[in-house]
Amino acid sequence: MSRMAVLDRASEPQRLPTYEHLYLHVPFCARRCSYCDFAIAVRREVPWRAFAESVSRECEIRRVREQCGPLHTVYLGGGTPSRLGADGVRATLDALRSHVQWSDDAEVTLEANPEDISVETVAAWREAGVNRLSIGIQSFDDAVLSWMHRVHDASAALRAVDAARAGGIAAFSLDLIFATPDRLARNWENDLHQIIALAPDHVSLYGLTVEPHTPLGRWHARGEEAEAPEERYAHEFLSAHAHLVDAGFEHYEVSNFAQPGRRARHNGAYWRVVPYLGLGPSAHGFDGSTRRWNIEAFAGWQRAVNTNIDPVGGAEHLTPSNRRAEMVYLGLRTVDGLEVTAEEVAHVSAWERAGWGQVQCRGAQHRLVCTAEGWLRLDALAADLTAFRRHS
Ligand code: SF4
Repeated sequence: MSRMAVLDRASEPQRLPTYEHLYLHVPFCARRCSYCDFAIAVRREVPWRAFAESVSRECEIRRVREQCGPLHTVYLGGGTPSRLGADGVRATLDALRSHVQWSDDAEVTLEANPEDISVETVAAWREAGVNRLSIGIQSFDDAVLSWMHRVHDASAALRAVDAARAGGIAAFSLDLIFATPDRLARNWENDLHQIIALAPDHVSLYGLTVEPHTPLGRWHARGEEAEAPEERYAHEFLSAHAHLVDAGFEHYEVSNFAQPGRRARHNGAYWRVVPYLGLGPSAHGFDGSTRRWNIEAFAGWQRAVNTNIDPVGGAEHLTPSNRRAEMVYLGLRTVDGLEVTAEEVAHVSAWERAGWGQVQCRGAQHRLVCTAEGWLRLDALAADLTAFRRHS
């Protein structure tokens, strides 16, 4: 650790976190998608009882009960949490509830893949306390879904959305992946039209990236696959912005769109840099000054908690300078923007002229908000403003 980091740390007040947001990583997947480098465990039979018991063990070991206020959001992500099925989701939420409480109006989200969704299962998830689904659609093109190694096809995606509504969970987000390789000749506009026709209250977009330790990474290394050119990446992102905004969605964060009043509350906690608790293999958490993450492999995490050991895999203390950089980056991700000084307003006038951002006056405050064009350059803009802050 550098001397500066030690000094930064010493100047910070100590405080005990009271978590209001909880993330649980459920690692199980039917198979690995071609682009995915997440921490997953491919299982034909999901050991949901053992998983729920291990979640309970982790809560005990980490004395979660003492650290949580009533939770406002609970998020089961993965992996594919819907692989837990009706009984597994109920057992897992019951395991959490035996350690922590959540408020009556808490947002309880379950990530679900179309092949796991039926009217009966959704009804059981709702009974268990789930009130929002995040459904991994990714595309409505069967050739693209097959190339992605997804289990479902387009008709299954349509049936899943109908089943979610019929099962009683009307709040759902749909995920789409854009910037697939040229070779697939995917019709992105068609996918946008189909997603809008399904009338979700939330849409998340992810630009395809090539990660080294994935099937796609290996195809790329062998020269069998090429990334989408930058111009098409930009075109598809801006096209999604135009179509979804036209359909009444607010593009409220670089990757997220919501109908009025339907922003994702859980992810909002990450962008506001408030504490959140992370449980399960590979889960990250933040206590207000330190990020920690759990052992990544399911077997290693389970072995640790079953032998009464905190399954921590690592931790990183955020110095005030780390935090300032992060505040800039996260602030610029959302339409709430970032408070800027008069000197910074002058500095970013070049961004305004280029159409990358706008300075909005809110009372006595100036807030800098990126445009969709600016979000395409988010890393560079955040680095520019962070460097300006450091030197001024
Ligand atoms: S379902 Fe999701 S987590 Fe599982 S392999 Fe596919 S992309 Fe990764």
